Amino acid sequence: MLKTSGIYYGEFGGRYVPDHLDKKLEILEDVFKEIKNDPVFISEYQYYLKNYVGRPSALYYAKNLSKIIGVKTYLKREDLNHTGAHKINNAIGQILIAKRMGKKEIIAETGAGQHGVATATAAALFNMKCKIFMGEEDINRQKMNVERMKILGAEIIPATNGTKTLKEAVDKALEYYVDNPESYYLLGSAVGPSPYPEMVKFFQSVIGQEAKKQFFDFEGELPDGIFACIGGGSNSIGIFNDFIKDEVKLYAAEGGGEGINSGRTAATLSSKSQPIIFQGSFSYCLTDQESNPIEAYSISAGLDYPGIGPEHAFFKESNRIMYYPINDDEAIESFKILSKEEGIIPAIESAHAIALAKKIAKVEGLKKIIVNLSGRGDKDVGRFL
Ligand SMILES: *Cc1c(COP(=O)(O)O)cnc(C)c1O
Repeated sequence: MLKTSGIYYGEFGGRYVPDHLDKKLEILEDVFKEIKNDPVFISEYQYYLKNYVGRPSALYYAKNLSKIIGVKTYLKREDLNHTGAHKINNAIGQILIAKRMGKKEIIAETGAGQHGVATATAAALFNMKCKIFMGEEDINRQKMNVERMKILGAEIIPATNGTKTLKEAVDKALEYYVDNPESYYLLGSAVGPSPYPEMVKFFQSVIGQEAKKQFFDFEGELPDGIFACIGGGSNSIGIFNDFIKDEVKLYAAEGGGEGINSGRTAATLSSKSQPIIFQGSFSYCLTDQESNPIEAYSISAGLDYPGIGPEHAFFKESNRIMYYPINDDEAIESFKILSKEEGIIPAIESAHAIALAKKIAKVEGLKKIIVNLSGRGDKDVGRFL
């Protein structure tokens, strides 16, 4: 029987790792609980969000898009952040924790390279050494982000076994972390062993806090629906968190890939999956018949992860958040619509959230919604024209 420790969401979450790693993460969890309520830490974090990241990000009433969706639609513009997505919110928060813990070296894994770029950026800002673990296959596919990380001073370490993608990069980073106790592992989404899901949510919650206030300033009330895309689950939990207790419907768009029955999908909660222990946490995961994790597929590199954050597993089972698959072709259509109608080229990940709003907001009887635009589409230029 496995020993259980860490933070749980119902039966999901926890920390399922070897003993020595459990101890390290327990210390991290204590530091996290400390900084959460430390006004000095919070004010330094907010200083960088404002002056370096460029927050608050705008909440923009998208008039032209609203006509197509059939519902008054606001966009939360995380694409306007420094480095072009929400990931920097978390990278800045965690690097401040690393600094407080006296760490000198930052390590991180990355798939498409977005989290690697955010981490390399934060490491440069605080003069820390930075190693980014990345699957060899992804290194070849994501040349621009690899180049950016190198310019920022990070060292790229290729993972060369298995499918040579994100899963192997995580395994390799964890291995390095265990062997090098002086390093700090900066995890990029609301996944993995406790305290990461809770910590990443804490740093991304600024999205929903701002959006709530901004929406109220425009409309004098709350929105009736909020939409976000979901890979591991950080931008979605970030915008949803402040609305969980409100009468607001919450919708998450998973990477449906070529369809949930095609065998080429990343839709963990809206297709057939099961709860297993995967990468240190108990949550749903896409598996084969022997309950082993399988490779996920989506046109969007930020969404093609077989697992999902444990709190999302909890909200799926308690029906607080609704999870739907959006297939590649639907996402591409919305990528084009937002670009042509609003002059905003979205990340293909974020286009999944737009597509879900377009598909169901009106049918659901919603009147005023927010869609979280998690990132911009520079990295996707040249793929869909
Ligand atoms: C990484 C990424 C995502 C998916 O990650 P989450 O942790 O689910 O938010 C979504 N959008 C963009 C732009 C990303 O870079």
